[in-house]
Amino acid sequence: MRIVLVGPPGAGKGTQAAFLAKNLSIPHISTGDLFRANISQGTELGKKAKSYMDAGQLVPDEVTIGMAKDRMEQPDAVNGFLLDGFPRNVSQAEALDVALKTDDVKLDAVLDLEVPEDEVVKRIAGRRICRNDSAHVFHVEYKQPKADGVCDTCGGELYQRDDDKEETVRKRLEVYHTQTEPIIGYYREQGLVKTISALGKVEEVTARAMEALGR
Ligand SMILES: [Zn+2]
Repeated sequence: MRIVLVGPPGAGKGTQAAFLAKNLSIPHISTGDLFRANISQGTELGKKAKSYMDAGQLVPDEVTIGMAKDRMEQPDAVNGFLLDGFPRNVSQAEALDVALKTDDVKLDAVLDLEVPEDEVVKRIAGRRICRNDSAHVFHVEYKQPKADGVCDTCGGELYQRDDDKEETVRKRLEVYHTQTEPIIGYYREQGLVKTISALGKVEEVTARAMEALGR
Protein backbone atom coordinates (compact mmCIF):
# COMPACT_ATOMS: atom_id res chain seq x y z
CA MET A 1 0.00 0.00 0.00
CA ARG A 2 1.13 3.53 -0.75
CA ILE A 3 -0.04 5.81 2.00
CA VAL A 4 0.34 9.46 2.95
CA LEU A 5 -0.16 10.28 6.62
CA VAL A 6 -1.38 13.77 7.48
CA GLY A 7 -2.38 15.43 10.74
CA PRO A 8 -1.59 18.47 12.85
CA PRO A 9 1.41 18.66 15.15
CA GLY A 10 0.60 16.74 18.32
CA ALA A 11 -1.59 14.15 16.56
CA GLY A 12 0.97 11.42 17.26
CA LYS A 13 1.82 11.03 13.59
CA GLY A 14 5.36 9.70 14.09
CA THR A 15 4.20 7.06 16.56
CA GLN A 16 1.30 5.93 14.36
CA ALA A 17 3.52 5.90 11.28
CA ALA A 18 5.97 3.54 12.98
CA PHE A 19 3.22 1.11 14.07
CA LEU A 20 1.36 1.20 10.76
CA ALA A 21 4.53 0.68 8.73
CA LYS A 22 5.35 -2.35 10.87
CA ASN A 23 1.80 -3.78 10.60
CA LEU A 24 1.72 -3.28 6.85
CA SER A 25 5.36 -4.35 6.26
CA ILE A 26 6.20 -1.18 4.33
CA PRO A 27 8.93 1.38 5.02
CA HIS A 28 8.12 4.48 7.05
CA ILE A 29 9.51 7.44 5.09
CA SER A 30 9.73 10.61 7.16
CA THR A 31 11.16 13.85 5.85
CA GLY A 32 13.29 14.21 8.98
CA ASP A 33 14.97 10.86 8.29
CA LEU A 34 15.33 11.67 4.57
CA PHE A 35 17.17 14.90 5.35
CA ARG A 36 19.42 13.25 7.93
CA ALA A 37 20.25 10.32 5.63
CA ASN A 38 20.99 12.46 2.56
CA ILE A 39 23.10 14.90 4.53
CA SER A 40 25.11 12.23 6.35
CA GLN A 41 25.69 10.30 3.09
CA GLY A 42 26.71 13.54 1.35
CA THR A 43 24.37 13.07 -1.64
CA GLU A 44 23.96 15.96 -4.10
CA LEU A 45 20.46 16.63 -2.72
CA GLY A 46 21.79 16.38 0.83
CA LYS A 47 24.48 18.98 0.08
CA LYS A 48 21.88 21.27 -1.45
CA ALA A 49 19.52 20.86 1.50
CA LYS A 50 22.34 21.53 3.95
CA SER A 51 23.35 24.76 2.20
CA TYR A 52 19.82 26.12 2.65
CA MET A 53 19.56 24.90 6.22
CA ASP A 54 22.97 26.40 7.14
CA ALA A 55 21.76 29.71 5.74
CA GLY A 56 18.64 29.45 7.89
CA GLN A 57 16.43 29.15 4.80
CA LEU A 58 13.63 26.75 3.93
CA VAL A 59 14.71 23.84 1.76
CA PRO A 60 13.01 24.26 -1.66
CA ASP A 61 10.26 21.79 -2.55
CA GLU A 62 12.18 20.29 -5.48
CA VAL A 63 15.01 19.20 -3.16
CA THR A 64 12.59 17.52 -0.74
CA ILE A 65 10.69 15.91 -3.61
CA GLY A 66 13.93 14.62 -5.13
CA MET A 67 14.90 12.95 -1.85
CA ALA A 68 11.44 11.43 -1.43
CA LYS A 69 11.48 10.12 -5.02
CA ASP A 70 14.92 8.50 -4.56
CA ARG A 71 13.70 6.84 -1.37
CA MET A 72 10.41 5.61 -2.91
CA GLU A 73 12.42 3.93 -5.68
CA GLN A 74 14.48 1.81 -3.26
CA PRO A 75 13.83 -1.96 -3.46
CA ASP A 76 12.12 -2.13 -0.04
CA ALA A 77 9.48 0.37 -1.20
CA VAL A 78 8.42 -1.61 -4.29
CA ASN A 79 5.24 -2.84 -2.61
CA GLY A 80 4.45 0.38 -0.84
CA PHE A 81 5.50 2.98 1.68
CA LEU A 82 4.09 5.31 4.26
CA LEU A 83 4.96 8.98 3.84
CA ASP A 84 5.14 11.05 7.02
CA GLY A 85 5.74 14.79 6.85
CA PHE A 86 5.57 14.90 3.07
CA PRO A 87 3.81 16.32 1.08
CA ARG A 88 3.30 19.34 3.32
CA ASN A 89 1.65 21.66 0.81
CA VAL A 90 -0.39 21.38 -2.39
CA SER A 91 2.51 22.05 -4.74
CA GLN A 92 4.45 19.16 -3.14
CA ALA A 93 1.34 16.96 -3.47
CA GLU A 94 1.14 17.81 -7.18
CA ALA A 95 4.84 17.07 -7.61
CA LEU A 96 4.40 13.77 -5.78
CA ASP A 97 1.62 12.80 -8.22
CA VAL A 98 3.94 13.53 -11.14
CA ALA A 99 6.77 11.52 -9.55
CA LEU A 100 4.47 8.54 -8.89
CA LYS A 101 3.12 8.70 -12.42
CA THR A 102 6.60 8.42 -13.92
CA ASP A 103 7.03 5.24 -11.85
CA ASP A 104 3.57 4.11 -13.01
CA VAL A 105 2.17 3.78 -9.48
CA LYS A 106 -0.60 5.47 -7.48
CA LEU A 107 -1.39 6.34 -3.88
CA ASP A 108 -3.88 4.00 -2.20
CA ALA A 109 -4.91 6.18 0.71
CA VAL A 110 -4.36 9.42 2.56
CA LEU A 111 -4.85 8.86 6.25
CA ASP A 112 -5.95 12.03 8.01
CA LEU A 113 -5.47 12.03 11.79
CA GLU A 114 -7.98 14.35 13.38
CA VAL A 115 -7.47 15.98 16.79
CA PRO A 116 -9.41 18.95 18.20
CA GLU A 117 -7.20 22.02 18.35
CA ASP A 118 -7.51 22.48 22.13
CA GLU A 119 -6.44 18.88 22.62
CA VAL A 120 -3.32 19.49 20.49
CA VAL A 121 -2.43 22.49 22.63
CA LYS A 122 -3.04 20.51 25.82
CA ARG A 123 -0.94 17.57 24.61
CA ILE A 124 2.06 19.63 23.55
CA ALA A 125 2.00 22.50 26.04
CA GLY A 126 1.67 20.03 28.93
CA ARG A 127 4.87 18.17 28.03
CA ARG A 128 7.77 18.35 30.46
CA ILE A 129 11.21 17.08 29.47
CA CYS A 130 14.08 16.03 31.71
CA ARG A 131 17.21 18.20 31.49
CA ASN A 132 19.42 15.08 31.77
CA ASP A 133 17.77 13.02 29.03
CA SER A 134 15.21 14.22 26.47
CA ALA A 135 13.82 10.65 26.32
CA HIS A 136 12.46 11.15 29.86
CA VAL A 137 9.16 12.77 28.95
CA PHE A 138 6.31 13.61 31.32
CA HIS A 139 3.02 15.45 31.07
CA VAL A 140 1.36 17.73 33.62
CA GLU A 141 -1.93 15.92 33.10
CA TYR A 142 -1.41 12.61 31.29
CA LYS A 143 1.87 11.41 32.79
CA GLN A 144 2.52 13.25 36.02
CA PRO A 145 5.87 12.74 37.72
CA LYS A 146 5.69 11.54 41.35
CA ALA A 147 7.21 14.83 42.54
CA ASP A 148 6.40 18.13 40.83
CA GLY A 149 9.11 19.16 38.36
CA VAL A 150 11.35 16.16 39.09
CA CYS A 151 12.12 13.27 36.73
CA ASP A 152 10.98 9.87 38.11
CA THR A 153 13.73 8.06 36.22
CA CYS A 154 16.84 10.03 37.15
CA GLY A 155 15.83 12.85 39.49
CA GLY A 156 16.66 15.49 36.86
CA GLU A 157 14.85 18.81 36.57
CA LEU A 158 11.81 18.85 34.27
CA TYR A 159 11.27 21.82 31.96
CA GLN A 160 9.08 22.96 29.07
CA ARG A 161 10.82 23.30 25.69
CA ASP A 162 10.35 26.61 23.89
CA ASP A 163 8.87 24.66 20.96
CA ASP A 164 6.20 23.30 23.28
CA LYS A 165 4.99 26.66 24.62
CA GLU A 166 1.33 27.39 23.88
CA GLU A 167 2.08 30.43 21.71
CA THR A 168 4.50 28.42 19.55
CA VAL A 169 2.05 25.52 19.28
CA ARG A 170 -0.71 27.90 18.10
CA LYS A 171 1.67 29.28 15.45
CA ARG A 172 2.55 25.77 14.24
CA LEU A 173 -1.17 24.95 14.03
CA GLU A 174 -1.73 28.10 11.99
CA VAL A 175 0.98 27.00 9.54
CA TYR A 176 -0.64 23.55 9.37
CA HIS A 177 -4.07 25.06 8.61
CA THR A 178 -2.85 27.40 5.90
CA GLN A 179 -0.19 25.22 4.21
CA THR A 180 -0.83 21.53 4.86
CA GLU A 181 -4.57 21.19 5.41
CA PRO A 182 -5.39 22.19 1.80
CA ILE A 183 -3.78 18.92 0.63
CA ILE A 184 -6.67 17.07 2.30
CA GLY A 185 -9.06 18.82 -0.10
CA TYR A 186 -6.70 18.07 -2.98
CA TYR A 187 -6.68 14.35 -2.16
CA ARG A 188 -10.40 14.28 -1.34
CA GLU A 189 -11.06 15.10 -4.99
CA GLN A 190 -9.13 11.94 -5.82
CA GLY A 191 -11.28 9.95 -3.36
CA LEU A 192 -8.27 8.97 -1.27
CA VAL A 193 -8.93 10.55 2.13
CA LYS A 194 -9.73 8.42 5.20
CA THR A 195 -10.27 10.57 8.27
CA ILE A 196 -9.95 8.96 11.70
CA SER A 197 -9.93 10.34 15.22
CA ALA A 198 -6.48 10.40 16.81
CA LEU A 199 -7.94 10.53 20.32
CA GLY A 200 -7.45 7.66 22.73
CA LYS A 201 -4.67 5.15 23.32
CA VAL A 202 -1.95 4.63 20.71
CA GLU A 203 -3.11 1.05 20.00
CA GLU A 204 -6.74 2.18 19.64
CA VAL A 205 -5.74 4.75 17.02
CA THR A 206 -3.63 2.15 15.17
CA ALA A 207 -6.59 -0.27 15.14
CA ARG A 208 -8.87 2.49 13.80
CA ALA A 209 -6.32 3.31 11.09
CA MET A 210 -5.97 -0.33 10.01
CA GLU A 211 -9.74 -0.62 9.78
CA ALA A 212 -9.99 2.58 7.70
CA LEU A 213 -7.31 1.14 5.37
CA GLY A 214 -9.36 -2.05 5.05
CA ARG A 215 -6.70 -4.21 6.75
ZN1 LIG B 1 15.46 12.12 33.73
